[in-house]
This record gives sequence, structure tokens and C-alpha cells, in this order.
Amino acid sequence: MSTLEEISRRRTFAIISHPDAGKTTLTEKLLLFGGAIQTAGAVKSNKIKKSATSDFMEIEKQRGISVATSVMTFEYKNLKINILDTPGHKDFAEDTYRTLTAVDSVILVIDCVKGVEEQTERLMEVCRMRDTPVIIFINKLDREGQNPFDLLDELESKLNIRVRPLTWPVNMGSDFKGVYSLYDKTMNFFRVNKTKVEEDILEIDINTPVLEQKVGERDAEQLREDTELIEGVYDPFDRQTYLEGKVAPVFFGSAVNNFGVKELLDTFCTISPEPIARATDKRVVYPDEPKFTGFVFKIHANLDPRHRDRIAFLRICSGVFERGKFYHHTRLDKDVRFSSPFSFMADSKSIVDEGFPGDVVGLYDTGSFKIGDTLTEGEEMRYVGIPSFSPEIFKELINTDPMKSKQLDKGIQQLTDEGVAQLFTMMSGNRKIVGTVGELQFDVIQYRLEHEYGAKCRWTTMPVSKACWLTSDDKKKLDEFIRLKGLAIAYDKDSNPVFLAESDWILRMNMQNNPEIKFHFTSEFK
Ligand code: GDP
Repeated sequence: MSTLEEISRRRTFAIISHPDAGKTTLTEKLLLFGGAIQTAGAVKSNKIKKSATSDFMEIEKQRGISVATSVMTFEYKNLKINILDTPGHKDFAEDTYRTLTAVDSVILVIDCVKGVEEQTERLMEVCRMRDTPVIIFINKLDREGQNPFDLLDELESKLNIRVRPLTWPVNMGSDFKGVYSLYDKTMNFFRVNKTKVEEDILEIDINTPVLEQKVGERDAEQLREDTELIEGVYDPFDRQTYLEGKVAPVFFGSAVNNFGVKELLDTFCTISPEPIARATDKRVVYPDEPKFTGFVFKIHANLDPRHRDRIAFLRICSGVFERGKFYHHTRLDKDVRFSSPFSFMADSKSIVDEGFPGDVVGLYDTGSFKIGDTLTEGEEMRYVGIPSFSPEIFKELINTDPMKSKQLDKGIQQLTDEGVAQLFTMMSGNRKIVGTVGELQFDVIQYRLEHEYGAKCRWTTMPVSKACWLTSDDKKKLDEFIRLKGLAIAYDKDSNPVFLAESDWILRMNMQNNPEIKFHFTSEFK
């Protein structure tokens, strides 16, 4: 197969959802259809359960699972499909945001009973920032959910995207009869089926009495009314508009019953994008360029604390990645090579000799990678669009074992390189402020500092509600602001100044009073 053929058969995407909507279940069913696993139950949820806050062994176990399921690859209809897993737990949202920088599209799972939930909104915001194409799967139709038209309205208003149903349910809950495909004009009849992947699909002309025979008079009438309304209200589905991230096709089904999953997968295979071009600080790079480039979007610590090596996840963006070849690490300006890069299958890893755009390879790393690092065949550039987001909880890291301060420094440096949290330094006294999106990370950091680096710490909560990166065209004004704000200024890992605002009100005041200074909520700005 030529390189171009290899590229065009790759589909790299993530499944996202609010916890419990059915992401793990849907992932598993897709793998079953793809033949990557043989039995249900083979995919472990990477969910970090609430109780894990105080149960560190549980966190460690869960971390293990999430390495194994970080990327799941399977073949279907001659396509090579890479599913990038994202942690469901809210406290690990940053990890999810970063994974979304490495995919070409997403499938969003919605629980038909709960509708659009908090995490759904935030995840979609990140997708919308990047115009990532989205397919929506409304799940759990075997339960009494909200009216489907209301669900569609809610999706449009809360997620700020147009929707277009491609299938339509006949009832829900105990009376759920199946879904009608608005495009194939077929009816998929529902039956409880937790293990098999076959479906009971019938071509049907809904304007004939066959429909009455199949679903009864009342439901036949309703389906005709609904489809008429849909065709009247929604524009016909247009693939280009979907690829631009402007309209999301919607499917209905029940993942746990394998129901509606095949339609979803088949449509995904037909419409979802091939590996797309990506921006660097110098130029746009196209996947079919001959020279290899890629970037690191995730770093995972080795589970064995005696070996401090880590796994860096590299998304290949152009060219062919080859095992054992030297590549240029552009941030460090040095050449590196990897003797045992690996790919991921459902529950195993295997060494790969080459990888193509769209693929993700795991690289053993001894501490030379940070999130966002770029590898090339010599060209000086860095992939952009992998920002840090302003954290929400801030605590000062206090060393409680002065004999181990070197270990503490090294540990916190490496853990923040991994992206577990963000580290800010205050010039006065070299104080270290750690910012995260969730409380759980502080427990994880404290635990890992002790067990992997032999350092002890405690936390003091900081009265900070938002950290904003600062820039200005007027350097004098910026220096003046930094001098005046004194203790409210810290520096990120790349020594960029950051304003630590005590409250939203204080932030707004400062923004108003200093129009020549720009306040940024993500670390990527020009
Ligand atoms: P995740 O947190 O999004 O990964 O959700 P899971 O896949 O773990 O599913 C959460 C719960 O919903 C589990 O108990 C599933 O068995 C259940 N579930 C998933 N799909 C369906 C469905 O179609 N119908 C019903 N009734 N339950 C489902």
C-alpha cells in the first residue's frame, strides 16, 4: 500500500461525554464491531471513581488502565481507526482537552434522560475552538428520556452548533421500537441484545401500510409526522458543513444493546475526515508531505516507580515515522531516536517499525519531553494549538522535608511536564504555586512526589480564582503593571508573566483599568 493510501484510510477520533453517558460502553461496542475484541466487558472503564480521592492504590490501578486504553486501534471496512481515550473524571479535564488537539473528529455521547450536562458543554467548547467535526450519539433510548425534538433544541442552544438528525427513534423506554434511518429509509428494530453485534434492519417505505403492520397505528402516524417536521425544519445533511464543524449529524441508539451503533460506525466511516492539515508556528503542514513531523500531546509516567521513565504519546502529522531513525526535537534543538516505539491495541502494546499520519505512537522517554513538543526531520517549527488552559484551583507547594528539596524540585518539574498540573513561580522567595482543574490532582501530586521522588510536601490554599497570561505591545506598561501588582504576579514554566486574580471582580477591574495590557485565558497567544 502506498503512503497516500495509508494516510487516506486513517480515522483518528475521540469519544467524549459527561461521565456515565455511555462512552466506555460505546467504545467497547465499536471495538466489537471492528473485531478488535471478542467479548463484551473487555474494555475497562478508565473512570476514576469518586471514592478514589482517598484511595491511592485505586488511582494507581486506574492509571494503569488508562495507559492500556489510551489509544485503541481497529480495522473496519479497510479503514484503520484510532480511538483516543479521554478520562471521564472532571478533575482530569485538561488531559481530555489536550487529547482533543490530537484527533481529527469526535463522537459526542449524550444520555437521553439527562440531556446536555456540564462536562458536555465544556468539552464541546474545546471542540468548537478548533472547529472539530462532531457526530452526536444520543444514548440509552431503552430508557424513558426527554422528547427528541427538545433534546435537539437543547443541543443547539447549549452547544452552539447546528444539528441534523440522521436517524429518528420510534418511542423510548419500555415502548421503544427502534430507529428509522432518514437517509437509507430503513427501520432498525430494537431488541434487548447485550452480546451480539447483529441488527434487525428492514427497508421500509413509511408511506405504506407496512409501517402500521410493523409498529402499530399510533407510532406509524407519529413517525410520519416527525419525519415531515424534520425535513421541514432541518437542512439536508451536508458533509462539507459537518467537516467545517458547523453542523453535527445526530444518531439515536442504545449502546449497551449494540443498538444503532453499526449505523453510527458506518456513517462515521463514510463522512469523517482523513488526517487533517495542522498549523505550526511557521506554516501549515499537510499529512501527505514526504517528511515526518509530529507532536506530543500526552505524557504518562511509568507505573513502576523504580523506573522513572515515561511514555510520551506522539501524534504523527506528516510523512512516515520510522523506528530507529533520528528526528529533530525542535524545543531542545537536539536529535533523538527511538528504538522501541509502540502502538496500542485493545489491551496490548506492540513495537512498530513505522507509523503514518493519524497514528499515535508511544515513545519511552526519560524526561526530555513536554506536552506540545514537536519532532521533525530537521525543520525548525513547533505545532501550535496545544495550549494550557487557565487552572481553577491554586495551592502553594510547601516543602516539609528540607533535606529533600532537590527531589521535590525535580519531582514537581517532571509531574508538571507530564501535564498533571501547571506550575507557577513567584519571584519573591521562589514560591511554587500549583494550579489544577480539580482537587484530585493535589492528592495525586502529593502521593507521587512521596512515592516516586521521596519528597514530602503539604499544600496551602491560595486566594486565587483565575490566572491570566499577560502581554502588551507596550513593554514599559507591562513592566510597570508587574511591578505594581507585586505578589499577584507569578511566572509560568516558560517564564511568561501571569496575573493571579483573587476574584473575577478584581480581574475585571484590572482589565478595565489597564486597556493596554492583554489578559489571556489560555497560554497560547501571539
Ligand atoms: P461513561 O462514564 O460515559 O464511560 O459511561 P459507561 O459506558 O460506563 O456507562 C455508564 C452506565 O450506563 C453503565 O452502567 C452502562 O451499563 C449504562 N449504559 C450504557 N449504555 C446504555 C444504554 O444504552 N441503556 C442503558 N439503560 N444503560 C446504558
